[in-house]
Amino acid sequence: MARIVILGAGISGHTAALHLKRQLKNEHEVVVVSPNADWNWIPSNIWVGVGKMTTSQVTFALAPIYRRKRIDFRQAKAVTIWPEGDETNPMGAVEIVYTDAKRQGQTELLRYDFLINATGPKLNFEATPGLGPDHNSWSVCTAEHAAKTSEAFAEIVAALRRGEKKTLVVGMGHGSCTCEGAAFEYAFNVEHELRQAGVRDKAEVVDLSNEYELGDFGVDGMKFSQNGYLTNSKIWTESLFRERNVKAILGAHVERVDPDTVHYEQLDGSKGSINYDFAMLLPPFRGVGLKAFDRSGQDITEEVFAPNGFLRVDADYSAKPYEDWSAADWPKTYQSPLYDNLFGIGIAFAPPHPISRPRTSVNGTVISPAPPRTGMPSGVMGRVVAENIAHRLRTSSTTGPKTASMATMGAACIASAGANLRTGSAAAMTMFPIVPDYQKYPLTGRDTKSTTGEIGRSGHWTKLLLHYLFIYKARALPGWYLIPE
Ligand SMILES: Cc1cc2nc3c(=O)[nH]c(=O)nc-3n(C[C@H](O)[C@H](O)[C@H](O)COP(=O)(O)OP(=O)(O)OC[C@H]3O[C@@H](n4cnc5c(N)ncnc54)[C@H](O)[C@@H]3O)c2cc1C
Repeated sequence: MARIVILGAGISGHTAALHLKRQLKNEHEVVVVSPNADWNWIPSNIWVGVGKMTTSQVTFALAPIYRRKRIDFRQAKAVTIWPEGDETNPMGAVEIVYTDAKRQGQTELLRYDFLINATGPKLNFEATPGLGPDHNSWSVCTAEHAAKTSEAFAEIVAALRRGEKKTLVVGMGHGSCTCEGAAFEYAFNVEHELRQAGVRDKAEVVDLSNEYELGDFGVDGMKFSQNGYLTNSKIWTESLFRERNVKAILGAHVERVDPDTVHYEQLDGSKGSINYDFAMLLPPFRGVGLKAFDRSGQDITEEVFAPNGFLRVDADYSAKPYEDWSAADWPKTYQSPLYDNLFGIGIAFAPPHPISRPRTSVNGTVISPAPPRTGMPSGVMGRVVAENIAHRLRTSSTTGPKTASMATMGAACIASAGANLRTGSAAAMTMFPIVPDYQKYPLTGRDTKSTTGEIGRSGHWTKLLLHYLFIYKARALPGWYLIPE
């Protein structure tokens, strides 16, 4: 009987665990290690952050689901990987520290035949002085962060109702952030709720982003047809900003967040600042800080992980100028080049380079989005890696038949404002592929290959439906796969 250990129970890890169980039944052991008791449907945190949902509406307990699925759940965090085992045993191992009330702080060395790193991001608030809920700005990255943010937002709405004027800044807290789509979505939820509360005219809503232009979304923008017209995501997003009177500060790296002022540098090297009453700024991401040692106890963290802490997989990491980037640089199997039983999926794998054109300010500060790894591709990676491991266990081969390159995969993104069937609207985008074929469409970004954009109700309803499917169906039917076969 083989043991497959999955680190992380987010979108990619949970999907991998369910698919492994489906494929392997009880012939092999599936173990999930994750520090939180609950699963969080992160995309709905934006609604928690404006007070339209509670944390319990966007989370569910993992233990009962894994018990029913006969998946061994350890509420713990992984700290160290021993891919070659140690001097006592050549079998790979991962050291975990329990976080549940009963075993808090206890450590254990878990042996594995296959290890999937699906630990997502470390929210790196430390990269920017003053950033984050422990300091001067708010976040919607976790359900708990979003709940605190909603309290601050409610105070702002109350002050606006008293006739005060307020400035709300939403966006990216560092020049190298990713998830521009999430900040965009939260900005338009804030705007929507201010209108619903009848106080929009007293509030200034400002989007502060590291994107070079609106509509970049960390993927070099998109071109698509809407109502028979060919347009691009820049014009499309700009028109939405104009329509809803949301201001934008672009090409910005936040240097510092003071209690009432955000200080930033822009691509032209100029320094600016904006006074705020409420700021929700996302942090940059890095790997969660796992260490790796070889059999003799030598530290091999730098070989196994990239400098940003994400796991190196089957990507081409050679440094190349933007002009030479290729779709072929992107990983297909998410297998470590050093250890064929070690995988990195979702946000935990190290991308070979950004998707958007890299930019630095005249002072040399990096101000361009890191590549987004959104929910849909994260889930697909989880499923494909699970299926390849199952295949390997059945056939004893060292590779699996399936691939999931972001250069051959599509993604749907819905930025939905309002959590109500009647009053909300959404900007819905689909793109295929996520990573454009730079060689085929050099320097023009993504072509019209297969992208769509729509602003309206149907995308909004889809997003609400997704929320209920993910939360309620996953609670009620633990065998339901987030990403189907
Ligand atoms: C506010 C916001 C809104 C978003 N909206 C959308 C959207 O609308 N659509 C979309 O497609 N994507 C959206 N995203 C992105 C989406 O949430 C991510 O793509 C997705 O969560 C990535 O999945 P993952 O499994 O890689 O990481 P996560 O879902 O973050 O899961 C990581 C897991 O690893 C666990 N973990 C952390 N450290 C350790 C450790 N040391 N050991 C073991 N386990 C560990 C965590 O507790 C967690 O369970 C949004 C992101 C944010 C922040």
